[in-house]
Amino acid sequence: MFEYTPQSLSFVLESLTGEEEEMAVPKTKVSKSRKRMRNAANFKVSAPALADCPSCHEKKLPHVVCKKCGVYKGQTVVEKKDKK
Ligand SMILES: [Zn+2]
Repeated sequence: MFEYTPQSLSFVLESLTGEEEEMAVPKTKVSKSRKRMRNAANFKVSAPALADCPSCHEKKLPHVVCKKCGVYKGQTVVEKKDKK
């Protein structure tokens, strides 16, 4: 069953009387130029940096264990089962 709490009552009253809290509305239009300048400032251009793995010479993320051979700082940290 629907229970009438103070919150739900005020909501019902508002919906009946048509009174609502006003939405946040932008004061002025953001021009194409301003929108594009903002998006250009936030646009990520560069790809993530890649380093060469010293043991298998595969491209890998720096400061991260190599995905192919599992070596980090010259030590095998993660054992890879399917070594080819
Ligand atoms: Zn490697």
